[in-house]
Parts: sequence; C-alpha cells; structure tokens
Amino acid sequence: MSGKDPELSRLGEELSTARSDYAAAKKTTDETKARLNQTGSMIQTFNARIAELKKGIDTEYNAMRSERAGGDRSAADGHREAAQSMQEKLTEIYESKKACFAELDEARAAFNKALDAQKILRDKVQEAWDSFNARLEFLKSENAKEQAKWKEKPCRICGVPIRYNVEWKHIPNLCKECFDKDKLNWEDRTCAKCGKTFRINKSWDHIPSICGDCRKAVKAEKAAKMQAEKAAQEESARQAEEERQAAASALVDVANEAVSETVVEAPVESAAPTVCEAPAECAAPVVNEAPAEAAEPAGEVLSETADN
Ligand SMILES: [Zn+2]
Ligand SMILES: [Zn+2]
Repeated sequence: MSGKDPELSRLGEELSTARSDYAAAKKTTDETKARLNQTGSMIQTFNARIAELKKGIDTEYNAMRSERAGGDRSAADGHREAAQSMQEKLTEIYESKKACFAELDEARAAFNKALDAQKILRDKVQEAWDSFNARLEFLKSENAKEQAKWKEKPCRICGVPIRYNVEWKHIPNLCKECFDKDKLNWEDRTCAKCGKTFRINKSWDHIPSICGDCRKAVKAEKAAKMQAEKAAQEESARQAEEERQAAASALVDVANEAVSETVVEAPVESAAPTVCEAPAECAAPVVNEAPAEAAEPAGEVLSETADN
C-alpha cells in the first residue's frame, strides 16, 4: 500500500533528505564544538604556562637579590639573565594567547552558526515526519474504507464463500467453478408464441416455453383478467348485500306493523279510543296473522325504540 502511493514515496524521500541534511549539520556542529573546546584548552595551557613562568621569574629575581646581598655578582647576573629570558618567553606566550583569543571568537561564532543551522534542519525533519505520518494515516483510513466495501456471501450452488465488492455493478451469485459449470446449462430456445430466440438454464425447475416478453404479456393479461373478475365479484357481492338489506328492512316493516297492532291491544288509556275506533273483526285477525318469526324482530325494534 505505502509503496504504491506516489505522494507517500515523495514525502518519504523528503524525509530522508531532511534527515541526512540534519545529520550533516550535526556533524558540522560537532566539529565546530571540538574546535571551540580545543581553543579553550589551549588558552588554559597558556594560562598555566604563564603562571609557571611568573613564579619562575619571581624565584630568579629573589635568588638574584640574595646573591647580590651575599656579594656574588656573577651568580646574581646569572639569575637576572634567567629571569629576563623567562620574561621574553612570557611575552611570546602572551602574544600567542592573544592570537588564540581571536581564534576562540571565530570558533564560537562558527559553533553558534552551525547550531542555528542544525535547529532549522531539525524543525524541517519534524515537519517532514508530520507530513509523512499524516499521509500514512490518511492512506490507512482510505484502505479501511476500501476494505469495508469487500463482503462475502455463499455461492448459490455449492455454498463456498464468494468475495465481492459492494460497488460492483454485477455481484456474482455463483463461485468461479459453479459459474463455469453453469455456463454449459444455458442454451437457446425458440419462443412458442412469438418465435423469438431466448436463453434458458437447464437447471431450472420450470423451463419456460415462451420468451420473457411473452411471459410478461401473459402475466399482464392474467392480472387484468383477475382484476376484472375481482371487480365483478365485488359488484355481485355488493348487489347481494343490497338485496339482503332490502329484505331485512322489509321484514322490519312487517314486524313494526305487528308491534303497533300489539300496542293497540295493550291496556293503555290513551290507546282506548283507538280500540274503540278499530273494528272488532279487524283487530282479532291481525293478532292471529302475525307470524311467529315476526315476533323476534319486533323485540329488536322495540329495544331500538327504547334506546332512542
Ligand atoms: Zn459454487
Ligand atoms: Zn415470445
């Protein structure tokens, strides 16, 4: 993955260049530091030599004075000459030390310059690292997204797992082996209805004798027929219901009539004039004529009336 991404390769090269630049800068810093230390220790050596010579000069002058006091002029001169020669040496060393201070300043400046360059290159290495890692993280997350698109499902024939990508236009239902075998099952047939050539698979449970288009047409025709039949059935059911309701209301009418006749017979005062008005020969036959089955609906009608 990482090797295939040109951007990551480029960032990797930038990183390794930054690292070698930094390593070179660090080497320069180390060299200037060594030069600085060397100059410093040279000055210390001079200082030690100076202290030593000063001490020697003092010793020689003291010896010279004591020889003079003792009257030995020649010995006194010897000590004076020794002191003078040491003094000359001391002057030489002071000159060298002075030159060494100039070298120290130069070495310090070179060291500081190298250190600054090293710091800048160290920041560049960090930047290159950050860019490289950011790209790497990005590629990792892209890879994870890509991996999530890969799924498995069993082959419809043998059940072997088939690996597929959800973005494929045609996701296979068969493994490679079964697909190759299944190829032999396909053959051309001529439609019994329209004569067109169409493909069938010999492994199908029901092999059609007509083409897909004709099958669709037949299906649509069948559906239309069923729809019409259903509509007719609904219509006749509706009619039957209408008839049933008409019959029921007719029955209720009959029952109501029977009830009103019965009420007339009840011993209610207000009903009395009606009894008087009704002719006797008319009232009696009505009670007799009321059919037994009419009595029941009459009860329903009565309770309905009571509720209302
Ligand atoms: Zn298979
Ligand atoms: Zn056809």
